[in-house]
Amino acid sequence: MKVKAVGPIPPGYDAIGAKLAIGGRTASDLVAQAGKTPLFVYSRAHLDRRMAELRAALPARIGINYAVKANPHPDVIAHMETLVDGFDIASSGELVMVQAAGIDPARVSFAGPGKRDDELEAAIAAGATLNCESEGEAARSIAIGQRIGKAPRIAIRVNPDFELKGSGMKMGGGAKPFGVDAERVPALARQIIDEGAEWRGLHIFTGSQALSADAIIEAQGNVLNLAAKLSDEIGAALPKLNMGGGFGIPYFPNDEALDLAAVGRALHEYMDDLPGALIETELCLELGRYLVGEAGVYLCRIIDRKVSHGTTYLITDGGLHHQLAASGNFGTVVRRNYPVAIASHFDTEPLGSVAGDVGDAGDVVNVVGCLCTPLDRLADQALLPRADVGDLVAVFCAGAYGASASPADFLGHGPAAQMLV
Ligand SMILES: *Cc1c(COP(=O)(O)O)cnc(C)c1O
Repeated sequence: MKVKAVGPIPPGYDAIGAKLAIGGRTASDLVAQAGKTPLFVYSRAHLDRRMAELRAALPARIGINYAVKANPHPDVIAHMETLVDGFDIASSGELVMVQAAGIDPARVSFAGPGKRDDELEAAIAAGATLNCESEGEAARSIAIGQRIGKAPRIAIRVNPDFELKGSGMKMGGGAKPFGVDAERVPALARQIIDEGAEWRGLHIFTGSQALSADAIIEAQGNVLNLAAKLSDEIGAALPKLNMGGGFGIPYFPNDEALDLAAVGRALHEYMDDLPGALIETELCLELGRYLVGEAGVYLCRIIDRKVSHGTTYLITDGGLHHQLAASGNFGTVVRRNYPVAIASHFDTEPLGSVAGDVGDAGDVVNVVGCLCTPLDRLADQALLPRADVGDLVAVFCAGAYGASASPADFLGHGPAAQMLV
């Protein structure tokens, strides 16, 4: 039977006896506490460890912001509040979420094309920074600020002429709905300053999900140079520069983890040799999936085990309505397997990383969800320990763009439970 490899299980997940453990407790224990499957479990220990790795690798003067859209669960936001320097939001709904967590809006910046007037007003009133995406949005922000008697805090999101190479999602370079084309930034910045807004600097986001340290290092060098050049052209210092992020995590077979140490070394060198225009500028990175992606596991239960034309299906109570990305329907061209395991047999060799022809060596199965659509796949032709009805399947890398980026209403099964441990 032909086998397709599954993705790499992130470090830090151990077995207690035969069972997968998350935060020192077995998956079945956590499901019992939640009272249901499917369940997303997010691990504090993983969040803490990832932040500690970043702080150790990166220069101290570079702040770390959390991009809330990666995982807006209230307990995750509240825990990130203890770890990161700032928060990047992309809607007034996310503003409400960070305010509910008691986060000072002075630590919050709001990017995203198509901000409505009511969203701009809420952010200006709260004192959050607007990362303005167009001249029109800047004009509306200034007018709203005048109407409510509060100077808006405005940074400009730049659409740079370069992008993060190998980025999973391109968000800079050429025509884009995001940001203001670099050559138009100086005029807009001067106008913002002249009209009495509080000038907050620049936001330059070049891409997402990059695993190549070289690509990130190159993009960050380009960002610093562009920011220095724009600052000179504007004729005013940049109070702040959001340098973007784009740090990726390995999801698929053959993906290799980002070499964080290399990125850190390059950033130290950049800091030692910073363009004069940026000496006083507050610098930050904005990261989403790198902070939370590997900290989450999606657990679902096998409801049925059946064979069709010689192919074994493990049919679970989970699916793409919770974990769209694992099904291969969220921004991927070719479907590949996320890291998956049978939580009740986690001590067994991770056979699933093997690809090729395995004869009778293991149980080659298709793990699918419970939705009535052939799109609802969680793992194809995966070599896993023998699993049966009642066993739990674990899908890893579920901490970012899982619960909040999946169509939970589709087919009426309802949302998954979520838990921070
Ligand atoms: C989505 C987004 C992020 C987070 O991206 P990740 O790939 O999760 O790190 C950061 N900044 C902006 C502007 C975004 O749109």
